[in-house]
Amino acid sequence: MYVEWDDPATGLVRLLSITLRVLTRLQCVARRQLAQEGAALAGLYAGNPKRATTHPATERLLETFQEITLTLVIEPHQTRRHLTALTALKPRVLALLEFTPTMDTKLCGDSSEPPENEQTVSHQLRKVSSYVMALTEIETGALAALDEQKLIEALRDLLCIQSVTGQEATAQHWLSHHMRQLGLDVDLWTIDIASLQKHPWFPGMEVDRSKHEAIGLVGAWQGTTGGDRSSDKRLIFNGHIDVVPEGDHANWQHDPWGAELVDGRIYGRGSCDMKSGLMAALYAIKAIMDAGIPIDGSLMIQSVIGEEDGGIGTFASLLRGHTGDAAIVCEPTRLNLIPAQAGALTFTVRVHGKSAHACVRLEGVSAIEKYLDVHKVLIQLERERNSEIEHPLLGKLALPYPLNIGRVQAGNWSSSVPEELVFEGRIGVAMGEDSDSVRHQFEQTLKELAVADRWLCNHPLEIGWSGGQFDSGEIPMDHYLVKLCQQCMLDLTGDKPEIEGAPYGSDLRLFVNMGGFPALLFGPGDVKVAHMPDEFVDVQEVILAARAYILAAIRYFH
Ligand SMILES: [Zn+2]
Repeated sequence: MYVEWDDPATGLVRLLSITLRVLTRLQCVARRQLAQEGAALAGLYAGNPKRATTHPATERLLETFQEITLTLVIEPHQTRRHLTALTALKPRVLALLEFTPTMDTKLCGDSSEPPENEQTVSHQLRKVSSYVMALTEIETGALAALDEQKLIEALRDLLCIQSVTGQEATAQHWLSHHMRQLGLDVDLWTIDIASLQKHPWFPGMEVDRSKHEAIGLVGAWQGTTGGDRSSDKRLIFNGHIDVVPEGDHANWQHDPWGAELVDGRIYGRGSCDMKSGLMAALYAIKAIMDAGIPIDGSLMIQSVIGEEDGGIGTFASLLRGHTGDAAIVCEPTRLNLIPAQAGALTFTVRVHGKSAHACVRLEGVSAIEKYLDVHKVLIQLERERNSEIEHPLLGKLALPYPLNIGRVQAGNWSSSVPEELVFEGRIGVAMGEDSDSVRHQFEQTLKELAVADRWLCNHPLEIGWSGGQFDSGEIPMDHYLVKLCQQCMLDLTGDKPEIEGAPYGSDLRLFVNMGGFPALLFGPGDVKVAHMPDEFVDVQEVILAARAYILAAIRYFH
């Protein structure tokens, strides 16, 4: 094995193939330490040597490396750019590594005269290699072809384009242009919402789409086999381009549409949920294309609208024939694996009262007071629906199937008894549970309340199911797709990602239930910061996601 500072790419490939990944675990530890200190690797990772040498994080990084021999050259996603950045630090780094390399310094591996530190490396290699698979030459070639800088630049460009649910057209046009530039076959079309709404499986929609065009977008690469294709296997990457409203800017420290890059994090609405996953997948496909990896089948990327309010984008893509054999939905999972997602059904309920002057309020019936009774029975319903959950993944959550009231509106004058109250919320759908039966149970619960309440009996609650209607969906925990992505992460990081269940609805269920093929949620970013002010994603996590997608795609076809 050689470390060749003047030709980082060569060194990278060889290092990766033998020992780099083994000590990745140590690299992770080092990074975690830095993160705990609030330190940033931004300068180093941004490929800016000047910043790398002056940034306080660099100092701490070097201190950390002092304790962990060789970690620096073991980082698996070092690219030509990173190594170039590190070149400025070479003298110090080499001093820390306690050896003096020449152009072809042998560290370990194929040398006939093992260097001093081989023993350490071999020992660690044995410790970890029982479950870490070596990357093939094809894989390392594709990983090296990943253009991390362009990926991050393109992601930031996309984050600057506002694409709140219902107003995604500009972003879709921009991305279609970008996909064409990268060499994908692009299908861009206007979604006919009215005809979709007539479909019996219409997944629901909350926003008004009468003023803005709804656009579908799918990019595909047909693969190159070097000969006749023997397979028409198709792997789909799916990501939604719509984002939730950014809310009050005063609650943000960063510009929600500025895509600011600070200390290794990109801030902005949609950075985590989920433009980062979408772009990581796109650049993963590009890396495979650029590396000339033969794929016996095709890779597809679906950029979908309207996920946040039901999933019409994925629904429309499937109806248009953009189906496949498996789908990776790049939702923020912290690169853990989510093969099971609960459903969520949005409801709107109108509570009637009777208006009267406040001074004679007993003459009226307050819709707010009636609502308080409704609220109580709904909380009780939530409790019942969450007791004794046996599902192996969802059962681990504190509240797998929440029933949430998200919006309440009532009254029109402070001195009038409120004559009407409208509330909206969502109720979770359990794994394996039919959404119709959940709607029925909800309606039944409110009907039973009315039996004991004369007013409600004569003035029934009006219940509507007009918003997002997410069924639950899952594939087995030990499904091939889960194992495939798990192994990819293990090989890249030395750590096995967790397998989890999600208490929220997603497009996964459309692939599994409607498309009839497996799907998995797997992407960068932490859902805990989604939909929040100062939503962010870690740059390194985005890059790691792209690397994992590259491996997953290659292995899917080989
Ligand atoms: Zn999302």
